[in-house]
Amino acid sequence: MSPAPCSRILFVALLLGLGACGGGEERSGEVHDKPNLVLFTIDTLRADHLHCYGYRRETSPTLDALAEEGILFERAYSVAGTTLPAHLSIMTGLYPHQHGFTANHGAMSGGFAPSEGRHAVAELLRKAGYHTAAFVSGPTVAAATGLDCGFDVYDDYTSDDPESLAETSRRSKDTTNKVLEWLGEGPPEPFFLWVHYWDPHEPNIPLEPFASTFQSDEELERLIDERRIRPEVLQERFRPDEIARLFAPELAPELRRQELAEDRPKMQRRREKNDVPEVQLPPITRDSVRRLLNLYDGDVLAIDHALGRVLRGLKKVGCYDRSVITFVADHGQALGQHDWLEHGRIQGEELHVPLVVRFPSGLNMPPARYTDVVSVVDVFPTILARLDFPEASTFREQTSGEDVLSGGYLRNFAFSQRSVRERDWEPGEGNDGLKFALTTPRWKYYHRPEGTDELYDLEKDPGELEDVAAEHPEVVENLRRHVNTIYASRVHVPAGQVGPETEEQRRYRELLEITGYAGRSDD
Ligand SMILES: [Zn+2]
Repeated sequence: MSPAPCSRILFVALLLGLGACGGGEERSGEVHDKPNLVLFTIDTLRADHLHCYGYRRETSPTLDALAEEGILFERAYSVAGTTLPAHLSIMTGLYPHQHGFTANHGAMSGGFAPSEGRHAVAELLRKAGYHTAAFVSGPTVAAATGLDCGFDVYDDYTSDDPESLAETSRRSKDTTNKVLEWLGEGPPEPFFLWVHYWDPHEPNIPLEPFASTFQSDEELERLIDERRIRPEVLQERFRPDEIARLFAPELAPELRRQELAEDRPKMQRRREKNDVPEVQLPPITRDSVRRLLNLYDGDVLAIDHALGRVLRGLKKVGCYDRSVITFVADHGQALGQHDWLEHGRIQGEELHVPLVVRFPSGLNMPPARYTDVVSVVDVFPTILARLDFPEASTFREQTSGEDVLSGGYLRNFAFSQRSVRERDWEPGEGNDGLKFALTTPRWKYYHRPEGTDELYDLEKDPGELEDVAAEHPEVVENLRRHVNTIYASRVHVPAGQVGPETEEQRRYRELLEITGYAGRSDD
């Protein structure tokens, strides 16, 4: 059962007026009528690798402490296992088929642009007088995607040197340096600050001390068994360059350099023939799985450390308790589970994400843990329901998400859509991207319009291993109706968004080709 739901509390202005907040004093309990909004989105972070979500390793001391002061959603799910669709859903409160981007490569022919009923939260907040700034770390959130919509400052990571395309992302420590520089002595308020970290995304190459913090032990062996990770199947199933990204990250840059040295059509042909590398890769073994899990956890600890630096920065300039601080991930990571390496699918480990919201004391939202099933589309509807200005209402009117902290939250399921990727050989799945999932408190339901449906009983089978659809036809029918209703609710995407390829888009396309996200079909 959930704790007693909070009633909707409209904000009471205790301190009026704008201006820099510097001075280093924390004026506890005093907040502007428009509190600052600080959003952390972590790429590729599955909830069950965080200590405050029950993971036995202490991967998240900073987040654990933040969660003690805030609201932790135990069962939050993403709309997709892919970066751009999930981020746009967080920012618009719309499902991927509604904002129009169901895959990363959707932005290759033009990024997101707002229209009536499809506003990005930053755009509305700026209109409401917020100063907006974003610091992001990976290629699939570059400005070319349109995620920069509404930001005064959009600090993405791109290199001008084509040779350095191999370095497609930056570490949380470097992104954090940029954030702290921007915080300076105290930025003008109110502000909306978005910080995106990439470290848990493959390849996992944490720096020390994070690289050697976690060592294999009996509990890790139990985890590998419980998840039924099969190294021999992974070895058989994935291309060498994909295997290298996870299991031999030190060889991944060399593989990428080989690709860069070749002309692109030839590279594509070789990829299709599965004979990409000349670099010799070691086989995937149980020991390589152990190493992968240890390094992934090292990267999780690295982002937790970076989170701590930003939170201390906010305290130093006196803004911490005048800010709504939100921590969420765009999707999880398979890490070998369900015979998959990365993400893009809609299995539980790729959709279950952390969600923690710490409200300023002026908003009177006491710490709690919630067990209702919620979605990343609910993040901003829930925050903005507590703020009282016209643009917050505009957002709430357009969204498919809900205020999940209101007493009236009844939906209690999460809708997700599989992303279109370049692999069309996945057993039982076509390449049209039309595969959906619904997660409810008890069930996980998969729907393929042109295939069989699946149903898993999460109470008995949280790892989604045994399909029980045949035993519960009435449940399947009911959940299929929900999926069809949601998918029928489209928001009009205006024509004319697709124009000639700009330089920025060309670069984005090249990055996606290198990182394997460039799909074969446009959506
Ligand atoms: Zn992502």
